[in-house]
Parts: sequence; structure tokens; C-alpha cells
Amino acid sequence: MKLILLGAPGAGKGTQAEIICQHLNIPAISTGNIIREALNSGTEMGLKAKSYMDSGKLVPDEVVINIIKERLAQDDCKNGFILDGFPRTIAQAEALDRMGIEIDRVIDIEVPDEKITERLSGRRVCGECGASYHLLYKKPQVEGVCDKCRGALVQRKDDQPQTILERLAVYHDQTEPLKGYYEKKGKLFIVEGQEEVADTTKLTLAALED
Ligand code: ADP
Ligand code: ZN
Repeated sequence: MKLILLGAPGAGKGTQAEIICQHLNIPAISTGNIIREALNSGTEMGLKAKSYMDSGKLVPDEVVINIIKERLAQDDCKNGFILDGFPRTIAQAEALDRMGIEIDRVIDIEVPDEKITERLSGRRVCGECGASYHLLYKKPQVEGVCDKCRGALVQRKDDQPQTILERLAVYHDQTEPLKGYYEKKGKLFIVEGQEEVADTTKLTLAALED
């Protein structure tokens, strides 16, 4: 199964991607994570992406398209994959088409803007393993410490209030048109994001079946 997860930043794409990954045993590929890793290891691509990312803007299409091309050519993608955070523009979707990749389904997780703002501003991530927490909804067992690896929890630069507004604007402007793009192809499945992750998961898994 070749899947795309669509949705605003903070809609829960990453969480759902990890769950589907376990369920179907296909890799979850997050362009955001790949870029952050490149940044941490100080590669040229990472440095180039940093200013865009920190200000909430999209990294240029050709950069992310190259990342995806390389990643999808790897062996573990042979039986399918879940794309989390790619494509984010029509140009990226067209590039995917040109690569000859036939996407099976696109799951769009819908969450209202007010909710997104609340979720992103309370989000904290582990600086070591990237696990995600929330000050109100998903507290770690020990404040400021990752349950999984004991790493310190930090706030992503792009989760600060000003940047959240910019990311939402970018989402509505550049990414949301993808809904129409995939709807026309008959591939769009809409999932209403729920308060509880488990409830969203039920809807996501149902969208994979019918
Ligand atoms: P979120 O979904 O919470 O916004 P991501 O980790 O997916 O976070 O992405 C973080 C940032 O990485 C984006 O704001 C953008 O700068 C960059 N990025 C990730 N994926 C793409 C993409 N497909 N196209 C352009 N930029 C991207
Ligand atoms: Zn951790």
C-alpha cells in the first residue's frame, strides 16, 4: 500500500503514520524528520533548509523532491510506504506522479485551526529520539524528560506562536489545494481528527479498509 497522509501541521499525521507503519509493516517517511536529522548532523542540505524551517516556510520543492526520490529508491519501500508531510505543494505531487509512483490512498486528517494552535504551542519533543509530548494532553512521566530514552524535552523553534501562524497560513495556501488534486483522482479519504488518538486511529484504519 502506498499512502499519503495529508493535514495541517499538528493534525497528528506523524502519530497516525507510526501506527499504520506498525499495522501494515511498511515504512513511515517524514520529510520533516529527514530534514531535522540532516540539520542535526550538519549536512549542507540541512543548513540550507534551516532558515525556511525555523520561520515556518516550506523548504524549496527541489530540495524535498530530491530527498523523497532518494528515500523511495531504498529497499524497504518496495512493498509500500506512508508519506507523512510530503507532498506539501502541487509541484511536489506532480513530481511524485512523474516518478511513476501510483499512490493508492490519501488520508486527510482534518483538525480546526484553533485546535492546531493549542496542540502545537503545547508540544514538546525529545531532543534525542524525537518522541513527541504535550504539556496538557500527553505529559511525560517525569516533567521535561523523555519516557523512552530519558532525553531532555525541548520546544521546536517552529512551534513558537508567531511561527505557528505562519505555518497555518502556508498550509492553507500551498498544501490544502492538494485535497482537490487527489479528490479528482478519487483517492481522497477524509478523517476528522478526534480528541483521543485512539479514536482517530479507528477512523484512519477504517479509511484503509473500505
Ligand atoms: P509539521 O507537520 O508539524 O509542520 P514537519 O516536521 O512535517 O512538521 O515539517 C517541519 C518543516 O519542515 C516544515 O515547516 C517545512 O519547513 C519543512 N518541510 C517538511 N516537509 C516538507 C515538504 N514536503 N515541503 C517543503 N518543506 C517541508
Ligand atoms: Zn527520547
